[in-house]
Amino acid sequence: MHADRVQLAVIGGGPAGAAAAMRAARAGVDVVVFEAGEHGRDKVCGDGLTPRAVAALNDLDVSIDDAHRISGLRMIAGRTQRELPWPGSGRFPAYGAVWPRRRLDAALIDAAAASGADVQFSTTAAPVIEDGVVVGVDATTNGVTRRVRSDMVIVAAGAPGAVARAVGAARNPDEPFGLAIRTYAESPRHADALLEACLTLRDEHGTPVPGYGWMFPCGDGTVNIGVGALSTMKGFKKLNLNSLIAAYRGIVGDAWELGPDLERPRAWRLPMSVVRRHGPGWVAVGDAAGLVNPMNGEGIDYGLESGMLAADEFVRSPSEAPDRYDREVAERFDAFLRTGRRFAFLIGHPLLLRSGLRLAVGTEAIAQITLQVMGNLVDPDTPGTSGRVLRAADRALAVADPVLRRTRARA
Ligand SMILES: Cc1cc2nc3c(=O)[nH]c(=O)nc-3n(C[C@H](O)[C@H](O)[C@H](O)COP(=O)(O)OP(=O)(O)OC[C@H]3O[C@@H](n4cnc5c(N)ncnc54)[C@H](O)[C@@H]3O)c2cc1C
Repeated sequence: MHADRVQLAVIGGGPAGAAAAMRAARAGVDVVVFEAGEHGRDKVCGDGLTPRAVAALNDLDVSIDDAHRISGLRMIAGRTQRELPWPGSGRFPAYGAVWPRRRLDAALIDAAAASGADVQFSTTAAPVIEDGVVVGVDATTNGVTRRVRSDMVIVAAGAPGAVARAVGAARNPDEPFGLAIRTYAESPRHADALLEACLTLRDEHGTPVPGYGWMFPCGDGTVNIGVGALSTMKGFKKLNLNSLIAAYRGIVGDAWELGPDLERPRAWRLPMSVVRRHGPGWVAVGDAAGLVNPMNGEGIDYGLESGMLAADEFVRSPSEAPDRYDREVAERFDAFLRTGRRFAFLIGHPLLLRSGLRLAVGTEAIAQITLQVMGNLVDPDTPGTSGRVLRAADRALAVADPVLRRTRARA
């Protein structure tokens, strides 16, 4: 028998939910996680962890020994190639990793359970709302539903869906989002030390795609191959991701001596905004809060960080947690993510994308700044050139934003 009253209920056992549960359980909170999938469920993802994500895992005391370590990024734009080491400045380590999600997510949820969280797999949860306040969840396992009341519910259910609609945390329709597709293939270069990103993708009509193709070596005999695109591009609604990944495979297949696809390529959404990420009795974390970096599609780190913030605020004061969490997230991420979304509108324009790319990879030094800015690796304490570039970009994009949105490339 499970308790019908807990202090904290978490809907979703991905990185965001697991991080929140781990952190809360370690502080002595009575927390339950409801995960619709089974233990070891997969998540469509590139599996890439930036140094920022590794720092978050370090914060959680989760070892990355099971992951394949990565020392930097090979950026490819047309005929220009730059091999860029991770900066390793300030509070972020000089390495990232590739950790296939089946294993990463299992490691995280196992760590949450080991910390004392009650994790219930194959259980779908829906928020219970009374007089506008989220007071718990209805949890359904094998067709049997029971009500669990809680002081707060953390919505960690991934890209907005039914749970988001119930609490009013839908995507903001005026803001960009992304779509990406990936598969795995065997490659003799599976243990390469660099991620590879090709920034000059085109769709089947020759339209430049704001996004990139990636080859992420997993270190286990396979590589994660995928492509992602931003909704700001012309013809986005008709973009065929299967054709795009097939075309990308054609570009990289020989150099990586790729074997056949190990599974059918699968696509999923990259949410980059929500209209609301907190309310009475609830907060949203990770993808459910639209916390994906528009400049590189990274969301694991933001899930881990926001999950930790939500738990920390709950531990401090359950009743004040939603408001305080929202403020903390705003302070840490909103300016950067807003710049990223403006940037998404900018590169939705083919001409601006082309000239921007030429500039971004033009010299080794500038490419290094690009890497640091796009990866959100600018440490506020030691901002240096990248910090100045980020602030200048924010100011310039703020001025250009209304025009970019109005002239948004449409199908
Ligand atoms: C193709 C692709 C490539 C990507 N590549 C990268 C990358 O390389 N690096 C990176 O950092 N990010 C990447 N991302 C983004 C990253 O995958 C997400 O940002 C990340 O998974 C967010 O974690 P989360 O915990 O918020 O959500 P999720 O990982 O989606 O977890 C949500 C969980 O909630 C569960 N759930 C949903 N509804 C319910 C319910 N009602 N009841 C119970 N459980 C429920 C789901 O089963 C799921 O397990 C990529 C995304 C895509 C689509």
